[in-house]
Amino acid sequence: MRFRIGNGFDVHRFSDDPDRVLVLGGVAIPGERALHGHSDADVVAHAVAEALLGASGLGDLGRLFPDTDERWAGADSLDLLAEVMRRVHDDGWEVANVDCSVIAERPKLAPHREAMEVGLGRVVGAPVTVKGRRAEGIGGLGRAEGIACFASALLTAAD
Ligand code: MG
Repeated sequence: MRFRIGNGFDVHRFSDDPDRVLVLGGVAIPGERALHGHSDADVVAHAVAEALLGASGLGDLGRLFPDTDERWAGADSLDLLAEVMRRVHDDGWEVANVDCSVIAERPKLAPHREAMEVGLGRVVGAPVTVKGRRAEGIGGLGRAEGIACFASALLTAAD
């Protein structure tokens, strides 16, 4: 049996645009400060996609969906993740599981964690776990200047 492991990381700073909506792991969280980015800035979905691309050796998000390409402006990152999954499947891989650590001073993730896990799991086709951590006041993340996410993905050969 063949296995491949991948890690993914992403970070986005908070936006000053009051019209943007915070999206984490595909879950819209209105009333919270949104993240700045070319797409919906879903830092969790991006880290998951990077982990899957790393495990499969298929590149990275920046190469697949360049932020110079207007097609991805305001993109729903779950759609980007679905496209990554299509490529991962086409390359002969299935996902065993994905695990995420989100580093955020705010918002509180606990009320949204299950919805993120269900929504991401539906796209990935495997269990996805999401854990929230705070940065203990250290650095830009600790000063709530943005949100970061680490993700690990395990793939198994489909045959
Ligand atoms: Mg990103």
